[in-house]
Amino acid sequence: MTRRLFGSSTPAAAPTQVLGLPHQRLAHRLTRAAVVAAGLALVSAGVALNVFLYFSARSAILDDMMVQARAVADNSAPAVLFDDNTAATDTLATLTSLRSVTSAYLFDEHGELIAFYRPKLGGGEVDPPLSVHIAARTTGSRVTGRHIYVTQPVLHQGKLIGRLAMAVSLRTLHQRTLAFAGVTALSTLGALCLAYLFALGVRRDIHRTEARLDELAYVDAVTGLYNRHAAGEHMRELVSRRQPFGVMMLDLDDFKHVNDTLGHASGDLLLRTIADRLRKSFEGRGQVFRLGGDEFMSIFALPADESGLDRIGQESIRVLREPVRLGADELFVRGSAGMSSFPSDGADWSELLRSADAAMYAAKASGKNVYAIFKAEMLHRSQLRLTLDSELRHAIARGELRLYYQPVVALDNGKILGAEALVRWEHPKRGLIGPADFIAAAEESGLVVELGQWVLAEAARQVAQWHAEGHENFYVAVNVSGRQIKRGILQRQVRHALEQSGAEPSWLEIEITEHSLVEDLQANLDSLASLREMGMRMAIDDFGTGLSSLSYLKRLPLNKLKIDRSFVRELPEQRDDVAIATAVISMARALGLMVVAEGVETVEQRDALLSMGCDYAQGYLFSRPVPASEMQRLLQEEREAVLRSAAPAPV
Ligand code: C2E
Ligand code: CA
Ligand code: CA
Repeated sequence: MTRRLFGSSTPAAAPTQVLGLPHQRLAHRLTRAAVVAAGLALVSAGVALNVFLYFSARSAILDDMMVQARAVADNSAPAVLFDDNTAATDTLATLTSLRSVTSAYLFDEHGELIAFYRPKLGGGEVDPPLSVHIAARTTGSRVTGRHIYVTQPVLHQGKLIGRLAMAVSLRTLHQRTLAFAGVTALSTLGALCLAYLFALGVRRDIHRTEARLDELAYVDAVTGLYNRHAAGEHMRELVSRRQPFGVMMLDLDDFKHVNDTLGHASGDLLLRTIADRLRKSFEGRGQVFRLGGDEFMSIFALPADESGLDRIGQESIRVLREPVRLGADELFVRGSAGMSSFPSDGADWSELLRSADAAMYAAKASGKNVYAIFKAEMLHRSQLRLTLDSELRHAIARGELRLYYQPVVALDNGKILGAEALVRWEHPKRGLIGPADFIAAAEESGLVVELGQWVLAEAARQVAQWHAEGHENFYVAVNVSGRQIKRGILQRQVRHALEQSGAEPSWLEIEITEHSLVEDLQANLDSLASLREMGMRMAIDDFGTGLSSLSYLKRLPLNKLKIDRSFVRELPEQRDDVAIATAVISMARALGLMVVAEGVETVEQRDALLSMGCDYAQGYLFSRPVPASEMQRLLQEEREAVLRSAAPAPV
């Protein structure tokens, strides 16, 4: 099926020709077999008919000749009795009307020849076969290839007085049979031609249907690229032929958000555009597949060295990066790619896929919009990810999770207003693991819902304790996953956490990333509105990174907006970041929202943010995320400082 693997580029036009799938060869064989079977049946029927007709005609001739011979024998009895040669010859001459009789002989009872009839040969010896026959029998018949020999007794008053022997030629019968066989052969041939034409028509229909079925089974309807199924078959085929090749897995970032915000038609258009570009870029050296969703794959002829692989990776990322026009919008797509090669990175196709996948994850981890070439340690890391995921299930039950708290401060005086709860995993063997290493996997497996429940309960318990210790007006912000917001899970979890801890709704703040918010905007809006009504605080996290339109901000029941760290990092040097941060802050103010800047690490960043009108911040400049005991110490210190400053000055 890989005949043209490294050369073809337009699968949608002629998928079956490129792949040459096994069942087409079957259709060929089937129609050929049907025609051959019909031919054989016709030929054998023709032969049987001819044989039957020949033998029945021959036996009719034989019967007829016996009757004729009997009549001639009776007529010649007087001549034989009187040994009258002339009369006997005259009687035999009556056989002239029977053209197939080639000779006839009259003998007396001692076997002496009395008269003969040989119209074509003239006088002479008796045919040797006929004489044998005469010697053997008095009466009867014998058939050879060319003749029928008939003998009849000549009787007088019941007494044998002589014998008549006659030879009849079968030539005419043979000629007729041959002519008839010719006619049957011709009509068989005609019938076969018709059958063949019919079979050709049927085969064409089968082909068309098969091509359509292949299209459905092997081609992705949206992009016209081959699908996952076809990719698997391609790889299996190449592996079985031990032919070296490269595999590239390519994953678009944020595609889901395009679908959700711009609609599915735009999403499809985007996929088609990317598919076309990839197809062109691999033209002549490989085949591009769509594995599903926003995942593409390419199987290509392996370049001579690693720098060739690098070029392919760079080219694919460059192809992605070019802006995509969707009507009036221009979209900047990003993606990550991972490459592996056969046979060095896997002995079979599933290992190769795993290697390419691990490389892609490594690319993602090192920052999106890049590619990576597979290295053995990547597999180790991706296996680690997998084992972590299954271990995380037990971690919740075994109480291995911890909450760290990072203070949120007023930018101008550094006063602590609240803290963001950030989850950590105290792994018995691996030590403290940050959420970056397990949240994504927990999101994928759905475990994040259970994890979120634990975080909410623990944060509520902690904030209730701090309030009881006198730290009033202090809140704890909790990060929630998009998965928790769906189907009202979050409301139930929040209610449960509040009931168990005795905390007030206003002591907790919910942080939702812009990404998860826009995934299912209407459903999320309803969930959040009901929480807001309960009196909870609501913040939008990582603001500026989603593909959201500003119009929905007005509709959201929000208190707060957190500017993503990526816009703070290069303040105040990066002019674009200054412009974005300034715009976000003034827009938030106009909407009556508080603004928290994330990831403030330097005094310069703090001052720049202050001058832009930002009120609150979080970051290493003020404090790293710390364990609850440390957070408590910070709160205590601050309270003492406040008390000191409020106390009357010593006299
Ligand atoms: P996030 O919500 O944006 O959290 C802020 C992250 O920035 C934290 O990373 C924090 O330690 C880090 N950070 C704070 N200040 C600075 C700074 O000045 N410089 C730098 N370089 N980093 C700073 P962390 O704790 O590793 O958390 C990562 C992400 O994991 C969080 O991003 C959040 O999205 C997620 N996460 C954390 N805890 C939870 C949780 O309980 N549930 C859910 N669903 N997600 C969580
Ligand atoms: Ca957060
Ligand atoms: Ca954030």
